[in-house]
Amino acid sequence: MIPFLDLKGINSQYRAELIEAFTRVIDSGWYIQGNECKEFDKEFAEYCGTKYAIGVANGLDALILILRAYKELGFMQDGDEVIVPSNTYIASILAISQNNLVPVLVEPDINTYLIDWAKIEEKITSKTKAIMSVHLYGQTCEMDNINEIAKKYNLKVIEDSAQSHGAYYKDKRSGNLGDASGFSFYPGKNLGALGDGGAVTTNDEELANTIKALGNYGSHKKYENLYKGINSRLDEIQAAMLRVKLRYLDNEIEKRREIANYYIENITNKNIIFPIQHLTSKIQHYQNHVWHLFVIRTNKRDKLQKYLLDNGIQTLIHYPIPPHKQNAYKEWNNETYPISEQIHNEILSLPISGVQSLEDTKIIIKVLNEFR
Ligand SMILES: *Cc1c(COP(=O)(O)O)cnc(C)c1O
Repeated sequence: MIPFLDLKGINSQYRAELIEAFTRVIDSGWYIQGNECKEFDKEFAEYCGTKYAIGVANGLDALILILRAYKELGFMQDGDEVIVPSNTYIASILAISQNNLVPVLVEPDINTYLIDWAKIEEKITSKTKAIMSVHLYGQTCEMDNINEIAKKYNLKVIEDSAQSHGAYYKDKRSGNLGDASGFSFYPGKNLGALGDGGAVTTNDEELANTIKALGNYGSHKKYENLYKGINSRLDEIQAAMLRVKLRYLDNEIEKRREIANYYIENITNKNIIFPIQHLTSKIQHYQNHVWHLFVIRTNKRDKLQKYLLDNGIQTLIHYPIPPHKQNAYKEWNNETYPISEQIHNEILSLPISGVQSLEDTKIIIKVLNEFR
C-alpha cells in the first residue's frame, strides 16, 4: 500500500536530532515558555520575514487569538463580519464564530480553489472588518487584489497559513502577506510538530503583545491580568521539535515541488483536472505553491478513489462536506454555494510528501493513466 502520508517516515529522517532536542528539554528543567519557545519564535519570524512570531497551542487558537486581539484593541466588536472562503477547512470559520463574529462566505475560483477575490467586494457591508485569506492546499491567494480591497474599505487581512508554510507571493512569504497570520503545526502539516502546535506572525507590535498576553491568561506581566485571556501556549517540547524541523522545511518543500511537477508532466489521463496555479507555469520563479496537498478533480471522483485503493494507493478528500452543509452550521444548510459544492464532490488528494519515492510516484501515475 502506498500511504497518503508517511508521518513516521518523515519524522524518522530527523530522529537523532529530535532525540537530542528532546533530551535538551528534559535536562533544562523548564517546560513551559522557556528558551526553546523564545528561540523558535525568533527563528520562525525570521523564516517568514515578519517582526514577530508568537507560539500558541494550535492553528485554530492562532486564528481565534488574532480576532480576539482585534476585538480587545477596539477594531472589531460582537456581530461584525469577516469574509472567508466557502470551501475552507472548518477551523477558519470556527475561529470567526467563536469570537461572536459573523463569517461571510465567498465562493472560490474553480481553477485554483482559492477565494475568488473578484467576488469579495459585493459581500462587503458596513459591518465587515476583515478578510481571511486561506492559502488552501499550500498556494498563496492573490494578495495584491485582496490587500487593495482591504485598503479601500479599511479591513484587516488575516492569513490562514495552516497549509502554506514557506509559500511565497512575489517576494514575501506566507505569514507576511497581510496584517496577521495563523499557522498550524499539526503533525500532518508541511511543518509539523510531534503533537499540536501553532503560531501567529505579524509586523504589528501592539497586536503581537496583545496576542501574547491573551494566550497567557490575559497576562502581560506575572499575576497581573489585562484581559480575560485563555491558556494557549506552544509547549517547550514542541518548540524544540519544530526548531529541528524548521531547518529542513525548504528541503521538504523542494521535494514536494519535484513530485508535483512530475505528476503534472506525466499524468495524461484526460478525465483528470490538475490544480491550476494563478501564476501559471511560473512555479519556479514565484514559488507560490508548497503543495501541502496535490488535489486533482474529476467528475468520477468516488469511482477513482475506489479504483486507486483497489490498486494499493491511499487517497483522501479535503474536504468531503462543505462548511455550509455541516450540522454545526445549520443556519446555512439551505444556502447554495455551487462552486464549493462542485469542488467538494469532485476533488481527490493524491499522496505527496518529502519522503515519497520516485518509484511510488511512478506507480501512482501509471495506475492513474490507466483509469477509464
Ligand atoms: C489545519 C488547519 C487549521 C487548524 O489547525 P489546527 O492546528 O489543527 O488547530 C486551520 N485552517 C486550515 C486551513 C487548516 O488546514
